[in-house]
Amino acid sequence: MTTAKSYKFWFCTGSQDLYGDECLRKVAEHSHIIVEELNKSGVLPFEVVWKPTLITNELIRKTFNEANADDECAGVITWMHTFSPAKSWILGLKEYRKPLCHLHTQFNEEIPYDTIDMDFMNENQSAHGGREYGHLVTRMGIERKVIAGYWADRKVQERLASWMRTAVGIMESSHIRVCRVADNMRNVAVTEGDKVEAQIKFGWEIDAYPVNEIAEYVQDVKQGDINALVDEYYDKYDIILDGRDPEEFRRHVAVQAGIEIGFEKFLEEKNYQAIVTHFGDLGSLQQLPGLAIQRLMEKGYGFGGEGDWKTAAMVRLMKIMTSGIKDAKGTSFMEDYTYNLVPGKEGVLEAHMLEVCPTVADGKVSIRVCPLSMGDREDPARLIFTSKTGPAVATSLVDLGDRFRLIINEVECKKVEKPMPKLPVGTAFWTPKPDLTTGAEAWILAGGAHHTAFSYDLTAEQMCDWADAMGIEAVCIDGDTTIRTLKNELRWNQMYFRK
Ligand code: MN
Repeated sequence: MTTAKSYKFWFCTGSQDLYGDECLRKVAEHSHIIVEELNKSGVLPFEVVWKPTLITNELIRKTFNEANADDECAGVITWMHTFSPAKSWILGLKEYRKPLCHLHTQFNEEIPYDTIDMDFMNENQSAHGGREYGHLVTRMGIERKVIAGYWADRKVQERLASWMRTAVGIMESSHIRVCRVADNMRNVAVTEGDKVEAQIKFGWEIDAYPVNEIAEYVQDVKQGDINALVDEYYDKYDIILDGRDPEEFRRHVAVQAGIEIGFEKFLEEKNYQAIVTHFGDLGSLQQLPGLAIQRLMEKGYGFGGEGDWKTAAMVRLMKIMTSGIKDAKGTSFMEDYTYNLVPGKEGVLEAHMLEVCPTVADGKVSIRVCPLSMGDREDPARLIFTSKTGPAVATSLVDLGDRFRLIINEVECKKVEKPMPKLPVGTAFWTPKPDLTTGAEAWILAGGAHHTAFSYDLTAEQMCDWADAMGIEAVCIDGDTTIRTLKNELRWNQMYFRK
């Protein structure tokens, strides 16, 4: 189900006619070569489209408006090959509404020491032109990504590639629709928030349905479809009976198959890409959706527990931003559960009641049927696994009353020391950066939630850029974080973002 359009990015080169046609011919030739090579590199997730050199107010304005109108265009990459008087860009930039990148590069990597003359300098003066253009964009207060470096350098290409995914996140945010099954959990603060403001800021539509409306879709699922899906589960996953009767076990699993099919039909019909549930409000559903929600997340749906629509939308957003990544390691809803505080082995054990996405699993995934210590329904079937190791980001979007804040923590995922045979949920274990103590203190001071949208395949830079583009506060907790500087950052941000 995860889909992002086959987006394209326009490559627009800035110049002027002061140095004659020969110079402009070379400018166009150079930008053609850069676009071709970028597309051939295999590094970029989306195609770059060459556009004619921009030298006049009229053409710049026309080009940006065409970019606005083109559904396939997810952003414009601008490069100032020569000096491009920036007043020519004002009207175009003013009317432009999509993600903007300033690639601050030049065609040649090295100064041609033996041959360089004034003609060469005039033709190749990105260091000059990029500053004129950058000044204007800053003066206009336009959010954009600046990437400096040699265009053929793999690191520069990788940064451009990761910005493209951020740009798609910016474009796709307004297509996210969250289906709320029941309300937020009673008395819980951090999962609440201003849904109108979320639609203004992020474009999210967040609608509630009585649980039995979706439960009817589950009741209507044909037995044959359920049986076929259960067979698929039994083929794909290991079965851990825990001494239960195999037939009884299978009947429990079949309930989740019915939920998966019924929920997906409901979401497809009504065009929702994310869903929240609440263990305390299950209507006529026989089990808390566990395995069913895990499978839906695997297909690309966003999810948040206990009515947490903010996290559900963020999980969906991050699924879209990471779609199509080769060898992706996974993106999931998570919850901070319990600590390991042993010196040298510090970390947070992550899980949820049931709903962790199997895309993050390392190795085999199994089905177990176990009692749920909360709620009043029959024992739900769930997928269990442990997660991959390596760097990742955990994000929490909170509503501070007068604004949203996105908290982003770089974390290092690890294996727990020993198996946990009595814990029947999918888990992850990570040490927050810069260390557990500072990371946890910083997270709490920033007001971060216990629910997170988590991904191995995105970086803090991408999530910060997305927040910047949305016009909200981003607080990054990483290897450089100290409590003293973080507290000041939070105070300064409070001034900046106060309306
Ligand atoms: Mn929860």
